[in-house]
Amino acid sequence: MPTKPTPSDEFITRFAPSPTGLLHMGHAYSALAAFNQAKARGGRFLLRIEDIDQGRCRPEFVEAIFEDLAWLGLTWEEPVRRQSEHFEDYAAALQALKDMGVAYPCFCTRKDIQKEIQRAPSAPHGAEGPIYPGTCRTIDRTDAVARIAAGQPHAWRLNLGAALSITGANLSWQDQIRGTIVAAPELLGDVVLARKDTPTSYHLSVVWDDALQGVTHIIRGEDLFDATHIHVVLQKLLDLPTPQYCHHKLLAGSDGKRFAKRDKALTLAWLRESGTVAETLIASLQEQTRR
Ligand code: GLU
Repeated sequence: MPTKPTPSDEFITRFAPSPTGLLHMGHAYSALAAFNQAKARGGRFLLRIEDIDQGRCRPEFVEAIFEDLAWLGLTWEEPVRRQSEHFEDYAAALQALKDMGVAYPCFCTRKDIQKEIQRAPSAPHGAEGPIYPGTCRTIDRTDAVARIAAGQPHAWRLNLGAALSITGANLSWQDQIRGTIVAAPELLGDVVLARKDTPTSYHLSVVWDDALQGVTHIIRGEDLFDATHIHVVLQKLLDLPTPQYCHHKLLAGSDGKRFAKRDKALTLAWLRESGTVAETLIASLQEQTRR
């Protein structure tokens, strides 16, 4: 009789697209990679809709995700978690970080940040360009409370220095492709935990949901590799487990550029509607991963 997997050898992975556009071949590759690993290891495959950005996400893109993935032959567990239905979870996580003293309100506009960076050209650059120069980190608490009470728009940022003094600097994760990675969260700095227009951020909600859903293996593109430097810090702060990661390479088109949601002809919806057979696409994706 097969033994019931213990939590440590259970394999749970997920595909977590944001419905801000139609899925393309790169998404198909990523979803298949996760699905195939789950099947090969007798594990579970989840689908999560990351629709926190209510201004950019659209219901028709959610529908297209379901249709595209079904067309590719994927099956997933129901119910599908939709992040927009769980803002109170992320608010609780944010509150926990505020209570620890590792989150601060940031009143800067994009322009303020740009100006500040131009003023100090030696401002540190990280994985995603110049990192936030920390302008609001030192605002007096009473002043910040007054500005919030007066209705001044604000985001919430991680105070990375304060966070690392709690977690310690020796954080790492296991990456299926690159081995043990020592976290370098200073590459991202004081990231946004909750945006002005959305009461959470990608970093906070992805970390929260992966833990809540018991995800043991995160299989995603290497464009998200650097985000993991911050995710392990948030996991440690919130006392959540760090899953194993696999940051796979990104597929490139014939021009060598990676696929983007704006390349209409390469969307799965377009391929599906133009009569492409899913098996042909899957074979071509497998071929490309061998190159
Ligand atoms: N929602 C993210 C995206 O569409 C992916 C999240 C993840 O896999 O961690 O880029």
